[in-house]
Amino acid sequence: MAKEKLVQIRDLSVTYQTRIGTVSAVDHMSFDIYKGEILGLVGESGCGKSTFGKALLRMIDPPGEISSGEIIFDNENIMEYDDKQMRDFRGRRASMIFQDPMTSLNPVQRIDEHLIETIQVHEPHTEREPALQRSKQMIERLGIGEDRLISYPHQLSGGMRQRVMTGIGLILNADLIIADEATTSLDVIVEAKLADQLREIREEFGVSLLMITHNIALVAEMADRIAVMYAGHLIEIGDIYDVFENPKHPYTQGLLASVPNIRFDTEEQLYKMPGEPPNLTHPPTGCRFHPRCPHAMPICSQREPSLLEIEEGWMVHCWLYQEQPNE
Ligand code: SF4
Repeated sequence: MAKEKLVQIRDLSVTYQTRIGTVSAVDHMSFDIYKGEILGLVGESGCGKSTFGKALLRMIDPPGEISSGEIIFDNENIMEYDDKQMRDFRGRRASMIFQDPMTSLNPVQRIDEHLIETIQVHEPHTEREPALQRSKQMIERLGIGEDRLISYPHQLSGGMRQRVMTGIGLILNADLIIADEATTSLDVIVEAKLADQLREIREEFGVSLLMITHNIALVAEMADRIAVMYAGHLIEIGDIYDVFENPKHPYTQGLLASVPNIRFDTEEQLYKMPGEPPNLTHPPTGCRFHPRCPHAMPICSQREPSLLEIEEGWMVHCWLYQEQPNE
């Protein structure tokens, strides 16, 4: 059965104006997010993955801006929405869970007030009592007792706060949840529990989940597809099993080789990627990975490759998989 597209990102770029020049944080990214899928977006710190997540909700603050592109969400280009439409869009259609929920939850507001307010802002005709009932059902669904509704955020554990944030994201039946390092500050047991719940929620609500993380193991466990970013570029995207089994892009190969696994032999050295990510005010010409790439060819520093489909649904941004132009 053909997968249905929820979001079509086309040529999306985000730039920041700084005193030392223009930072090209997200550079002409194009790909789709399907309905009901879990897509893991990975890459080193500073590669632009969080910026990309914020851009999807048009939450880039000055001096940053979305400098090009379209975001087609369920057949509508949200880049054309005015501020009021965007406020309604955030929450009702798509929402974001951040690493530290304390930055999103109001410390002097009880949990029930957060949930009721979310409902009533988007559905002003909903009375308080039905909104409260929905809030109770939602947090119970997320494994939190209803007695916790009268707690303040600081009275909950980190894992509970993340589940509350997830509940706020889901209470209006959003179609897309963007989880930006949402499990990073949790211990491994709480992280595994939250990951299980996110998977169940996907099944139950049919929501799409964009999981932005540096935790490759978590992506391997949860995601249907993986997208890899390097220095503001999408460099590989494909089915999770295909990419883990046989990564194509040299950066993806290095990234996966640098993750320890349960069968890791302690005598064996983990792969260490040479060099450092580039300065995005002056990114390398051509392929931005060329100064670190063990397979770099002359063309790599001269011209940027395209993101090309090498097999159905599997796209790679590398000259190793495309014909070089005759000049
Ligand atoms: Fe390496 Fe060239 Fe491919 Fe870039 S385009 S990843 S430098 S082989």
